[in-house]
Amino acid sequence: MNRRYRKTIIAGNWKMNKTASETKKFAEELKTLLPKAKWCDVVVCVPAVNIPAAIKAFKDMRVSVGAENVFYEKSGAYTGEVSADMLKDLGVKYVIIGHSERRQYFGETDVTVNKKVHAALEAGLHPIICVGESLEQRELGITMELIALQVKSALAGVPAEKLRRCVIAYEPIWAIGTGKTATAEQAAEVCTFIRTTVRHLYGARIARSITIQYGGSMKPSNAAELLAQPDIDGGLIGGAALKPTEFVDIINAANQE
Ligand code: PEP
Repeated sequence: MNRRYRKTIIAGNWKMNKTASETKKFAEELKTLLPKAKWCDVVVCVPAVNIPAAIKAFKDMRVSVGAENVFYEKSGAYTGEVSADMLKDLGVKYVIIGHSERRQYFGETDVTVNKKVHAALEAGLHPIICVGESLEQRELGITMELIALQVKSALAGVPAEKLRRCVIAYEPIWAIGTGKTATAEQAAEVCTFIRTTVRHLYGARIARSITIQYGGSMKPSNAAELLAQPDIDGGLIGGAALKPTEFVDIINAANQE
């Protein structure tokens, strides 16, 4: 973390978990556990149908609500999809784009990720752009090339003044939901490389100000070590974000001086 130059953001990704009533229960429990002063921003990304319940439940808690996906067109004949304006209108602040599960199961590509980033920014949302390599790609030694490609294509055509609203989440696919966490060194190496890639594209000032998260089995037992890395400015958390106690332990780890 480096709070002098950029925000630390702890974001939960609930994936396809929790009903609207469970959302309310989670928020009530979280409220009793959250520290009074938070040196990090807290975000909870929930399934689209739960957004209205989440907006209501997290009101007054300084917890922002995020979506887990968005479609890139503004409106029209796209059955089942949700636009960026619809999310914004509900009070959503962040949106996860290009999560590896969306790439794996729903055919998202670097091209659709880029379109979604543009749509989100145009609507005034803050995209959390996910990038990460598979185990095979890591073993082939092509992690950095792949990450550079994902970052550059996600940000293609994004002007510098809008980049300030983007968050990049480094999520090695082999660490998501597997219980296997990247070591702090592995995570730091890639997050530093992402910042260098942004610096080449946008210059040092902007690269210094962008929030880069790590995601992949982050939990209370490893959060402090990961967050102590200067280029890791927070976490995108799946499993451990479903339990208020574990989520708060990670927030507390980000709250350390
Ligand atoms: C995620 O879904 O983005 C994630 C990192 O999940 P988990 O923490 O469960 O690995």
